[in-house]
Amino acid sequence: MSLTKKILIALVLGVIVGIGLSFAPENVFSFLDTYLLNPVGKIFLNLIMMIVVPIVFVSIVLGTAGLGEPAKLGRIGVQTITFYLVTTAIALVIGLAVAFILQPGKEGMFDVNTANFEPNAAPPIMETIINIIPSNPIEAMTGGDMLQIIAFAIFVGIALAILGDKTAGITKLFDQANEVLIFIVNLVMKAAPYGAFALIASAVGDSGISALGSMGMYMIAVILALFIHALVTYSVAIRGLGKASPIKFYKGFFPAMSVAFSTSSSNATLPISMKAAQENLGVKKSISSFVQPLGATINMDGTGIMQAVAAVFIANVYDVHLGVSAILMIILTATLASIGTAGVPGVGLIMLAMVLKQVGLPVEGIALIIGVDRLLDMLRTSVNITGDAACAYIISENEKRREEQGKTDPAI
Ligand code: ASP
Repeated sequence: MSLTKKILIALVLGVIVGIGLSFAPENVFSFLDTYLLNPVGKIFLNLIMMIVVPIVFVSIVLGTAGLGEPAKLGRIGVQTITFYLVTTAIALVIGLAVAFILQPGKEGMFDVNTANFEPNAAPPIMETIINIIPSNPIEAMTGGDMLQIIAFAIFVGIALAILGDKTAGITKLFDQANEVLIFIVNLVMKAAPYGAFALIASAVGDSGISALGSMGMYMIAVILALFIHALVTYSVAIRGLGKASPIKFYKGFFPAMSVAFSTSSSNATLPISMKAAQENLGVKKSISSFVQPLGATINMDGTGIMQAVAAVFIANVYDVHLGVSAILMIILTATLASIGTAGVPGVGLIMLAMVLKQVGLPVEGIALIIGVDRLLDMLRTSVNITGDAACAYIISENEKRREEQGKTDPAI
């Protein structure tokens, strides 16, 4: 049986067992969760997290060095960042439109007096930008600070590209390190069906179906907007900008989407997203290694959608009218927030506090959506990484055509 099929079965079984467990007596669930589901899920998560920092560093160095001329790097960098910002803004517009049509939170069954939420301080956006350059790259690696690791790796990659033959040995070393890491990814992927099953059964069993009741409309709005964005926006982009087949894209990228669904972490899924893009979609290695790690860190369309719907939901619950300027503020701050959102579970909710504050909505409202956030995090993370892969796929297809036409970048 193919790995994709196995993971798919694991996802379905995980949801079914999770729903079953949410009806079982509390001690049955907690016993199974403590001694089986949680350990299996966590071991799988650790296995993939173990390779994230080395793979981001090594692959961005190789990707940048492989792009060769700084002009090409600049061109691809600009295309990537533009794609990320524009698709995130589109995601927010879709989220807002769906939320305004479905009006979640208008059902009036929410007790705002008991809602209590102490927001963690979200990092101010200027600080995030200043901190992109690490004052200590080793500290960035031990702390897993992705933006800083990426920045340092780009410098090393540019140096290797310019120094060429002089540093061919180091480039080769990175190449071989990459082989080792890919080997480990392939090994870890064999455990994916079991890990995915355990993570999903645990998350669904823990959230409990009853928690979903009053939040139904909110969840439907988020899920609907996620589907519209994932299916329509990316398909149109892949067809229109990349002149490629969306069906091939979704088929080839599915294994990564399912791992994102079970881990709720763009970072943790990164090694698998890159493998799926390179091997199943034929994305050029140098492009995938540059575009996808960057996207896993700064591009979060699914998270943006959740934030847009959540803002409308909270405005409805607290009976606050959202005018045009508030709506524009949501689009602007949530697009920026997506740059600062780390690709780990639940961070989207922390950044939501910043968006709500900027728009002037009550941050305590977050308490209402926390209960169902774990489940929505699974879906939005799948959308987050799909956006990164779509961008890598489009740019790679266009680069291949450029090469066929014999176009080159000016050397400096
Ligand atoms: N879990 C998301 C991710 O890793 C971030 C979030 O929305 O919480 O992409």
